[in-house]
Amino acid sequence: MTTQQIQPVFILSEGSQRTTGRSAQRANIMAAKAVAETVRTTLGPKGMDKMLVDSLGDVVITNDGVTILQEMSIEHPAAKMIVEVAKAQEDEVGDGTTTAVVLAGELLKQAENLIDREIHPTVIARGYRLAADKSQEILNQIAEPVAEADIQTLRKIATTAMTGKGAEKAKESLSKISVDAVKAVMEKENGHLLIDTDNIKIEKKVGGRVEDSELIQGIVLDKEKVHPAMPRTVKGAKVALLDAAVEIKNTEIETKIQVSDPAQMQAFIDMEERMLREKVEKIAASGANVVFCQKGIDDMAQHFMSKKGIYASRRVSKSDMEKLARATGGKIVTNLNDLSRDDLGFAGIVEELKVGDENMTYVRECKNPKSVTILIRGGTEHVVDEIKRAMEDSLGDIAAALKVGKVVAGAGASEVELAKGLRKFSESLSGREQLAVNAFAEAIEIIPRTLAENSGLDPIDIMTELKAAHDTNRKWTGIDVFTGKIIDAWKDGVIEPLKIKTQAVSSASEVAVMILRIDDVIASAGKKGGPEGGMPGGMGGMGGRDMDM
Ligand code: ADP
Ligand code: MG
Repeated sequence: MTTQQIQPVFILSEGSQRTTGRSAQRANIMAAKAVAETVRTTLGPKGMDKMLVDSLGDVVITNDGVTILQEMSIEHPAAKMIVEVAKAQEDEVGDGTTTAVVLAGELLKQAENLIDREIHPTVIARGYRLAADKSQEILNQIAEPVAEADIQTLRKIATTAMTGKGAEKAKESLSKISVDAVKAVMEKENGHLLIDTDNIKIEKKVGGRVEDSELIQGIVLDKEKVHPAMPRTVKGAKVALLDAAVEIKNTEIETKIQVSDPAQMQAFIDMEERMLREKVEKIAASGANVVFCQKGIDDMAQHFMSKKGIYASRRVSKSDMEKLARATGGKIVTNLNDLSRDDLGFAGIVEELKVGDENMTYVRECKNPKSVTILIRGGTEHVVDEIKRAMEDSLGDIAAALKVGKVVAGAGASEVELAKGLRKFSESLSGREQLAVNAFAEAIEIIPRTLAENSGLDPIDIMTELKAAHDTNRKWTGIDVFTGKIIDAWKDGVIEPLKIKTQAVSSASEVAVMILRIDDVIASAGKKGGPEGGMPGGMGGMGGRDMDM
């Protein structure tokens, strides 16, 4: 393959962009840091909130890391990887998303300093991996055990998750609700704890006070019965779950029926009525006296149902249908003709109750008692939304604490202790790796530093005090963000599940290592109005979209 003259060789299509080496690394690190920086101010009880306005003008006010990042529609590929860290944290624990993202950003920032000192990224990556593994060990070592009977500790975990969020003013009652909810859905299988927080439904209803929020055994739907003549209460409910409309099907193609004689019109109407009546007959024949329909129910069908004493709600969401199926033991039927007695679920009582000034459907005494609903009340939409998010964090935390059986103190205590352990570990390593592990330790301390900064405290003073306390083996010394003093975070009840920390460290370090190892970014020109739309390019100044890594 020799050529006479040297011709430029194009291996990429026109308009593609390629960044290599140092500048690729820098751009990626910069983007990742930018993401971390956006959520950093929200960390901790004194963290600020963000107001996010989407393209339709809908407003979300939150300080929940993953919510912020999801709403931001981030474009840059490396920045997106950081968002993935938050998602992983959300899926695995439900809380600690800001922590994980801030940590990932700081790991990269520290790495950048090392790169500037001519340390090769692969060496840094190796050191980071060592440090991440060691962190798991150290965290497990310093953690304290927690048992399911330890209600006080569990309550403290819930309170810690809610501190500084909209949920704070009712944290007493809300923390009780979340502990009770997790306990209600907890199952034991040969010594193992199974907790599926999907069995906990969170329903919101604007109105009332936050303190009016309650835990209900069973499922609560934000739905009323479709017809006023239907019974308000059904005892011994046999529940049909339909994913099929109880309506006359609209034809796909436009059809025109020409009627030349009034009798024909009447015949047509009669036929429609007969078909609807048959549908309702089929439901009744299965023995159902309650119907939850994912689709619509025709007015006429509603009327026939109420005549048969059937309670029905329509346009129930898919996720609610699934929860109902689990709670009542019923099967979701997609074709009315297939509905039979075997598909029905069971609940002791189904009734419509007034909550505030709207009606909701309560399904209680379900076949599967491991289904509960938390009904959240609050003054406005934004309040109940933010409480829901805080509640989800606290449920995830309690579940994680029980599943792993270990907890640590928060308020920066576990991070300072971890950094101390890592520095000690680094002494056993050779030159460059030692630098990397020390950089990792430095990065971990971003959490207490940020907690201090967000509380308006001087991070340098606080860090010095904290480290001094930890050096005298007061391992749970943390920051009292309200007074600016150092405290024994354990005694003060700032308690978090071990899993928050282990997960945050592992996913943050994984993504940091991954980003560090990239030295070539090839971005194809991209189609106009590509899948994600928005502006091309993004942070770091590359046309980074549609790329393969
Ligand atoms: P994340 O999304 O990471 O959970 P948060 O805004 O919930 O972010 O903040 C969590 C941090 O706040 C943790 O480091 C935790 O230890 C700390 N924290 C929670 N409650 C307190 C408290 N009462 N005093 C000091 N720090 C606290
Ligand atoms: Mg939190």
